[in-house]
Parts: sequence; structure tokens; C-alpha cells
Amino acid sequence: MRVLLIEDDELIAHGILAGLRAHGLTVDGVTTAAQAEATLSSVHCDVVILDLGLPDEDGMSLLRRLRRGGMALPVLVLTARDAVEDRVAGLRAGADDYLLKPFDLNELVARLQALLRRAAGRSVDIIEHGPLRLDPVSGEVSLNGQVVILSRRELALLAALLHARGRILSPDQLKDSLYDFSEEIESNALNVHIHHLRRKLGAGIIETVRGVGYRFSVVNA
Ligand code: CA
Repeated sequence: MRVLLIEDDELIAHGILAGLRAHGLTVDGVTTAAQAEATLSSVHCDVVILDLGLPDEDGMSLLRRLRRGGMALPVLVLTARDAVEDRVAGLRAGADDYLLKPFDLNELVARLQALLRRAAGRSVDIIEHGPLRLDPVSGEVSLNGQVVILSRRELALLAALLHARGRILSPDQLKDSLYDFSEEIESNALNVHIHHLRRKLGAGIIETVRGVGYRFSVVNA
């Protein structure tokens, strides 16, 4: 899961970025509405965390504009204002959920997971596909009932493929779900992670679609 955090308060942003990364999520942080728009138009994200008080534009007006432009990603609004009108206005502007500052990091993670589940049309945490089972919250993966230990990257890759439900993902889309801007990507890294996943979960689990990308294999799962 790749998260875009739009928050100008350095201390809060730092805490959220570190906390979400510790939970195994890939997160990019931007501090202005302009940077947010540029990032959303160039990078694949799964969910957005939006602070309402941004230096260059009110977060609600940014959200309204993004929604009008067709941006369908789930958005969780962070707000220090606890007036009921603000929450209602935020939800009307197109937010899917909101959290009042200060908040507990575990609650933030749980709500992000819930937003993604809703977006994917699922109501339970566990993703099951044939003999494969993934608990996205604990990160536990099992195959035919046997627990399989995956690295953080392998887990992110598997989650991205499972969320796509058989759709083909390009190498760039997969890399976006694995790495944030602050990380160096070695040219062969994606191939290496896919190789490891196939070794651990069975060669047929990820299908290579030549010249296009990869997808979770329905036939072999
Ligand atoms: Ca702010």
C-alpha cells in the first residue's frame, strides 16, 4: 500500500512517516497543495492523508478540486479543528474519513486499512486467493495453511498484486507500491523480489505478461 501524506507540520509529518514505514507501508510526504497535485498526477498512490491547514491552499478546496478532476482515491482528512461543521464540510468535499489531531498512530493505520478495504469492495481484513492467505494488518502470509515468511518488500509486492485482483500491473506501478521517493531503486530490484516471491510461493503464482507487466495468476493459485 502506497500512501501520500499531505501535511506541512514538520513534526507531525515526521511522526506519521516514520510510524507508517514502521508498519511496512510505503509513504511519500509533501507539504503543499501544489506538491500534492504534482505527485498525484505522476505517481500511483492507494490512499491519501490530507491535512486541512496547508500553506498554499485550504485542504478542503484542494480536495474539492481533486474530486472534480476525477481523483477517486480514498482520502483521510487530518484536522485540528474539532467543530462539527468542519468535519461535515470535509466529508462533503469528498473525504472518506477524518481523524482529529492528536491521534494514535495505530488508529491511523487501522483507518487507512479500512479505507483500502472499502475501496476494494471487501469487508474483511483477510485476503484469500486459492491456497494463499494474507492478513494485511499483521502481514502474515500462509500457503496451504503453512506460514510463509516474506520480507517487507515481498509483502508489499504480494499485497499490490492481490489488490489488483488479476489485473496486470506494469513494472512502474509495482515499483511505485514498493518504494517511496527517498529510496534508491536498483534497476534489477523488482525482478529480484519477484524471483523470491515465486521461490517462496510457487513459480506459477506471478504471471509475466511480456512487454506489459505482471499479474497474480488465477490459474495456479
Ligand atoms: Ca497544517
